Amino acid sequence: MTDIPFHKARKRFGQNFLHDHGVIQRIIRSIHPREGQSLVEIGPGQGAITEYLLENAGELDVVELDKDLIPILNLRFGMNPGFRIHQGDALKFDFKTLQKDNQPLRLVGNLPYNISTPLIFHLLDFQGLIHDMHFMLQKEVVERLAAQSGDKHYGRLGIMTQYYCRVDYLFIVNPECFSPVPKVDSAIVRLTPHKELPYPCKNVKMLERVVREAFQQRRKTMRNTLKSLISSEEMEELGIEPTLRPERVTLEQFVSIADYLNDKG
Ligand code: SAM
Repeated sequence: MTDIPFHKARKRFGQNFLHDHGVIQRIIRSIHPREGQSLVEIGPGQGAITEYLLENAGELDVVELDKDLIPILNLRFGMNPGFRIHQGDALKFDFKTLQKDNQPLRLVGNLPYNISTPLIFHLLDFQGLIHDMHFMLQKEVVERLAAQSGDKHYGRLGIMTQYYCRVDYLFIVNPECFSPVPKVDSAIVRLTPHKELPYPCKNVKMLERVVREAFQQRRKTMRNTLKSLISSEEMEELGIEPTLRPERVTLEQFVSIADYLNDKG
């Protein structure tokens, strides 16, 4: 057998490799990969999860940025004809190119924490092609994804993700399960794009704009943060109290503001 070369974890690529076998198995059970499904792993690293995804699904596409990891992945899995490596940046990757026979994609990743928020926004652009996504993220990011109005973590990331996806907070993972040991707790989240949006809006760009402006200063009231877009009277007509802080406003209410502004032109 050929020895796997030693790879020193790189901070700039957010490399914290998972080594806890119990956690790896728990992640695989949550994903429940099956033969014939189109699985995609983002940031396979040295293959901690990859091995079991490939074993269960028979085929796997992986997107890895670090060129030095490509030979390691090839040595471990290259002999399997169902294993396909795409060396590149997941933030710029066109996931549509991985779709075959209109089969929806199942995305998986122990994501680099430094890019997790922009990556989730990038992936939301592909939500129509995706069956589900299982990600390991910094625990605080999972709390933001799952937060409901009134929670302290509620904001733009949670609202825009919940617009498109059901969010299930699965479980917490301790820092000791990784090498090197990160400074923060991690957690696993499942995002499942809705087949039908619960609160469809007429123009999603307008919703994005309203939510972004509302949370630019989360301590201010809706009346103040949105004053360049909508008056207090108009907000009251929509049944929204203008003195509320944005963190108390529901997704449905943000959609009603966006639709109103869209109709107004
Ligand atoms: N999946 C492995 C594991 O669980 O041990 C590695 C996880 S490590 C936290 C994150 C992985 O994502 C690394 O392999 C890193 O090189 C890769 N990565 C970092 N930035 C990336 C990007 N923009 N696109 C694709 N992969 C990236």
